[in-house]
Formats: sequence, structure tokens, C-alpha cells
Amino acid sequence: MLLNPVSRAVQEAAHSGIREIGNQALRTPGAIRLEVGQPNFPTPDHIVAAAKRAMDEGWTGYTATAGLLSLRERISAKLSRVNGIDSDPETEITIGPGGVGAIAAVMAALVEPGDEVLLPDPGWPNYRLMTVWTGTTPVYYPCSAERGFEPEPEQVGALVGPRTRVLMVNSPNNPTGAVYRAEVQRALLDIAERHGLWVISDECYDELVFDGTFTSLATLTQSDRVISGYTFSKSYSMTGWRIGYAVGPANVIDGAVKILESNSSCVSTISQKAAEAALDGPQACVAEMRDAYRRRRDLACAQLGELGLLLARPSGAFYVMADVSAAGADSRDFAFRLLEEQRVAVAPGTAFGEIPARAVRISLASSDEDLAEGIARLATALGR
Ligand code: PLP
Repeated sequence: MLLNPVSRAVQEAAHSGIREIGNQALRTPGAIRLEVGQPNFPTPDHIVAAAKRAMDEGWTGYTATAGLLSLRERISAKLSRVNGIDSDPETEITIGPGGVGAIAAVMAALVEPGDEVLLPDPGWPNYRLMTVWTGTTPVYYPCSAERGFEPEPEQVGALVGPRTRVLMVNSPNNPTGAVYRAEVQRALLDIAERHGLWVISDECYDELVFDGTFTSLATLTQSDRVISGYTFSKSYSMTGWRIGYAVGPANVIDGAVKILESNSSCVSTISQKAAEAALDGPQACVAEMRDAYRRRRDLACAQLGELGLLLARPSGAFYVMADVSAAGADSRDFAFRLLEEQRVAVAPGTAFGEIPARAVRISLASSDEDLAEGIARLATALGR
């Protein structure tokens, strides 16, 4: 029987380069896992208890696609408290399946096939995958280690063309941990205003900032061109609960809701009730996890610095980039060799773009011991 092939776009798209090494690590008994992008803490007890209660109380049906209004009201209060963003919970917020689901729905609501989307290099690989099924073209703006992995606004401006539609900004950044200064974000906004671009500000690590202050990009403009994405995954260690949200102008959020109607109907009601408990309950758990990441950041930076492998000191998220150019090979080959010979998994820089091709991402979401031992073995592999 004749069968059509799967779409050309997905045939040509590569799987995430982080997953590739993670899958190999699963087949490597006893491997130290420093490639992971999820907190190594359990979801706090009071959140788990709320989910169990929700099931017992029958919160098991669909909700509105945008999510329970009672949750959106709490999110609106959080956005005001933490981010300084004012929002109408009825029209300007949608919940989505993870930050990724909310951001992808917003992206789909903004672009036409053939448009160009400005993405950071290094950047989270999922943005590239979103261009695959939206039929858009990624154009990468460099964020070099020499500049602390911040974008250079002039270079971003030079990449804008007639088809550029969206500028994706991600601070605190995965994989670099860079937290962009307000003046840099303001300059990015100026470019967006000059060229009529939408800005998606992925702020999924907004509550994991170690030094200084973090400014939510949307607070730097009066215009209606910024849509911000957030998640419960990182702040509350809820990666598997699949719940995040986006806030922005009502027409864009309404568009994102249409997309979400087609692919998720709504986020699990049980997760939504758990998320309400996360926002209602004590926030000390967020601070405790942040403090642990900060301590590990300090330990890892000291160790990498002594070895001459530190590329830039991260100020947020939970990653640090290490220089592996001494390996000669590109970082993908090096990561596989490191796993095989030293039993340490790290995310190769090649998974995040061209700029970090000779770097690797080390996750701080690991125990202090694993982190220290993993970095020591990395140094051994590099002959240090
Ligand atoms: N944005 C960035 C930069 C991330 O690193 C992640 C997760 O790794 C997300 C968004 C989305 O996370 P989730 O879909 O679990 O909310």
C-alpha cells in the first residue's frame, strides 16, 4: 500500500541535542547527570497535597481553555507582585501546558509561514523546533561569552528584514544563565518599536535570579507588543505537572487560546488546582531552592575558574557554561566521549547554537557532590 511520507519539515528537523545525550546517559549505569534541565527537588508537600485534595473533591473535568479563572486571578496577582506587570485575568492571561506550550501557542498566534523569527544564539533548542511547524525561518542573534552572553542590540537590529515578525528574548537565559540589564532590554525594545516587531519575553526563570535585580521586559514599555511567558516548572519544581502561562495583549492571548483549543483543550485541572496552592502557599520553598542554586553556582564557578574553564558567571537560571575548546573536537563529540570515558553527562553547546559549539552546559540542578565530582572528571577529560 502506498503511504505518504511524514512532513518534510519534521523530516528535516533535528531532535533536541540535550535529549540525545540524556538518552545515552540512561544507558550508562552510574553516570553523573549534569545535562538535565529540571530541579532536583521534589514538588513541595503542600502543592502535592492540594492536587490530591483536588482529585478527591472532583476537580477532574475540563476547564476553560485559558484555565480556571480563579488561577488566572492568582497569576495576575503574582505578575503584579513579582514582575510588576498589570493584567486583566479574564482577557490577558492564558494558562498553557508548561511555559513551552504557552509560548508556542503565542508564537503560532503571531506568525505567518515565511516570516522570520529572531532567536538567541546560544538559545533554548525548543524555539528552533517551533519554527519548524510554524513554517517560519529562524534568524539567530549572537550573545557572545565576551559580552557575558548578553545580546548586542545593534547586531540584533542589523538582522531585521522585511519578513521579521517576532523577537524572542530569554532572560534569565537557558543555557547561559545571563540576566540581561534593563538598558539592554530597553534597546531591544527600541528595535522592536522601530520595526513593528512583536516581542516574546520568555521569563520562565524569573524567580531564579541570584544577583542584582531582574526587570521584566514588559514593564519597560507602554506599547502592546510584548507577550511574556512563565512557568511553575522551575520556581516550584513542578516540571512534570506541565503548567505555565503567558500574559499579553488581549487579541494575542485570544489567538493563543484558539491554538491551545486545537492541541490541548486545557491544562490538567489537577495541575491547575496544584498551581493555585503554589501561589497561595508559603513562598519560602522558592527562596530555598534559589539559595541552593546560588550556592552551587558559587561552588561551580570557583572550581571552573581555577581550572580556567569558566566562560561567564551566571546570574540566574540554573546553568553554567564551561569552555571545552581544549578538547579539539566539537562539543557534541566531546560530550559523548566524556560520558563514555568519565561517566559524566553534560549538554553539548552544539545543542544551543553555533556560538557555544566549543562549550558545554553544566546544570546546577544536581547535588553539590555530583557537581564537584562531575567538573573534576570534565577537567580530567580535558587533560587538566
Ligand atoms: N523556557 C526556557 C528557556 C526553558 O529552559 C524551559 C524549560 O527548560 C521552558 C521555557 C519551559 O519549561 P516548561 O515547559 O516546563 O514550563
